[in-house]
Amino acid sequence: MNVMTRPEELEACAPAGTFVETVTKVTHYTDRLFHFHMTRPAGFRFRSGEFVVIGLMIEGKPVFRAYSIASPSWAEDMEFFSIKVPDGPLTAHLQKIQPGDAILMRKKPTGTLVNDALVAGRRLYMFSTGTGIAPFASVIRDPETYEKFDELILTHSCREVAELKYGQDLVDAVKQDEMLKEFFDSSKLKLYNSVTREPYPFKGRITDLIDTGKLFKDLGVPPLDPANDRAMICGSAAMLKDTKALLERAGLTEGANNRPAEFVIERAFAG
Ligand SMILES: Cc1cc2nc3c(=O)[nH]c(=O)nc-3n(C[C@H](O)[C@H](O)[C@H](O)COP(=O)(O)OP(=O)(O)OC[C@H]3O[C@@H](n4cnc5c(N)ncnc54)[C@H](O)[C@@H]3O)c2cc1C
Repeated sequence: MNVMTRPEELEACAPAGTFVETVTKVTHYTDRLFHFHMTRPAGFRFRSGEFVVIGLMIEGKPVFRAYSIASPSWAEDMEFFSIKVPDGPLTAHLQKIQPGDAILMRKKPTGTLVNDALVAGRRLYMFSTGTGIAPFASVIRDPETYEKFDELILTHSCREVAELKYGQDLVDAVKQDEMLKEFFDSSKLKLYNSVTREPYPFKGRITDLIDTGKLFKDLGVPPLDPANDRAMICGSAAMLKDTKALLERAGLTEGANNRPAEFVIERAFAG
């Protein structure tokens, strides 16, 4: 298949309302997951946690998909954490990108996993499965999150241990970065990994770990309390539905950009 990846060619035929950006770094984690950096358009603004629509020109036609921006709003470049769907219309090709290749990006970011959609609280939970960690890679590097909350708990649940590496490396890097320490107190951030299909110290679906109270016991924190706890959730439709039900049972209410409340949700993928 013909995928147009040369920046000057793509510039010539990019659909209206799209930027053409250049890939600067690609890291493959597993046969299902990779991460890449690309240039950030001059003047492009977004809030940490939002998503944007990116695409490739395949067989002369643009193929676009929603992607959470994994970099924080202050960063010079843009990062994305992606699935590789073997026959996926976009990712069958996107997984082959190399530094120097060009990518399309629509101009308008949006999303609900943003600090503005939550009322202030003591503790922020970020519940993620698979590539659902991507928006939180952005949120945990935003100083505003540390101003708003005393404690940040990022949970990442995957099928296999190898799928946790991106999140683990990122949190380790955030905690060790001397420059970031000038802007926020990374000791407030905790990462809780769990795995469903391989042996691991913390095993099982995040919904079961919440439901049984094991998550809170492992973390040494009290059970969910609407007076103190806030949450953002990003995963499959089933994970969102089940996690939302557990939060509502604990007395938390769902918020939105125009109606901030105690938790917000966003799908990590459609379908
Ligand atoms: C708001 C939003 C944000 C998103 N952010 C990201 C992101 O940051 N990273 C990312 O990789 N994808 C993300 N997606 C999914 C993304 O839009 C595409 O679906 C994905 O890139 C695969 O595209 P495709 O054309 O290859 O296959 P598609 O035809 O889009 O998907 C084929 C099938 O693959 C499965 N699938 C798709 N995406 C995923 C995924 N991320 N994890 C597990 N299974 C999946 C689904 O079963 C889907 O039906 C997001 C989707 C939404 C709605």
